[in-house]
Amino acid sequence: MIILFNDLSKQIIKKIEEYNNIVIARHIGPDPDAIASEIALRDIIKLNYENKNVKAIGVGVAKFKYLGTLDKLTDEERSNTLLIMLDLPEASRLDGTKKDDYVYTIKIDHHPCDHPECDIDYIDDEASSTCQILCDIIFNNNLIISRECAEVLFTGIVSDSDRFLLSYTSPRTFDIASKLLDDYNIDLSKIYNNLYSRPLSERKFEAFITNNLTVTENGFGYIKLTNEDYKKYEVDANTASNMVNDFNFINELRCWAFSSYDEKNKVYRINIRSKDVIINDVAQNFNGGGHKLASGARLETMEEVDELFKALDERCKEYKKGDN
Ligand code: AMP
Repeated sequence: MIILFNDLSKQIIKKIEEYNNIVIARHIGPDPDAIASEIALRDIIKLNYENKNVKAIGVGVAKFKYLGTLDKLTDEERSNTLLIMLDLPEASRLDGTKKDDYVYTIKIDHHPCDHPECDIDYIDDEASSTCQILCDIIFNNNLIISRECAEVLFTGIVSDSDRFLLSYTSPRTFDIASKLLDDYNIDLSKIYNNLYSRPLSERKFEAFITNNLTVTENGFGYIKLTNEDYKKYEVDANTASNMVNDFNFINELRCWAFSSYDEKNKVYRINIRSKDVIINDVAQNFNGGGHKLASGARLETMEEVDELFKALDERCKEYKKGDN
């Protein structure tokens, strides 16, 4: 099937022009691409269309505050409102609102999805990031962007492509990054500082994970992190999520997964990454999902964590045999 992204982007702009109330939302447990995309889109709509009531919502994350602030939503703002969902494979994972509350819905995403979810679905699963797709839409429609928005978009692209390392980094990714650099004079050192500076305690925690990772004969590496580990290293339960990509270039690993207990929501948060073997279908079998080589899940019991890890090890074993 040929997807006409240009046409889709025109349809999206038409809908943005049509509605005065617009809500922009993304997935729970957001990463920089999810937050950057909603903040950039909100600010770009406001810059190009004065007097629109645009809200970017969801729970804020202290670590990503430098990207901008998020908005609160009132009940009235849900009526006759356009919802734009960003970086979100499944509407059930929306943070702070429900899709059914809106008269018209649009999804803009780079996660694979084989079923329609919204009135307009702009799904480019070959794009490095949602911010890259937004740049395509913005440039195609000659929208004005500020230097701040360009920096936020660049941050989302750099973060989700893992500094242009991951496989969906394409010539288009570099074209867009280059245009943002060229046209908006963005401050790279500020962006990299915000994204990558971290306390020594996190480095020590990463060393702890390296030293304690179990690696199977099939190239599956895993660790189950506990509250005692976080306490000892003075980090929080989300910290492991931010370092899972750093295990990408370890020869002995084909696929790896971290389990971290989220005390507040009483779930085990699982981060899964792979160099080559496809993992998102395995994650989907455990009520999770994501990209082919970067997925996640939230599980209620340690038995489920063990089952998921067993299934991932089995997937690595099949791949080794050449069955995948
Ligand atoms: P993470 O390890 O949290 O960075 O997530 C990696 C990818 O998996 C992201 O694209 C997430 O949107 C996706 N993902 C994480 N957790 C889930 C889940 N419970 N259900 C569906 N997709 C998920």
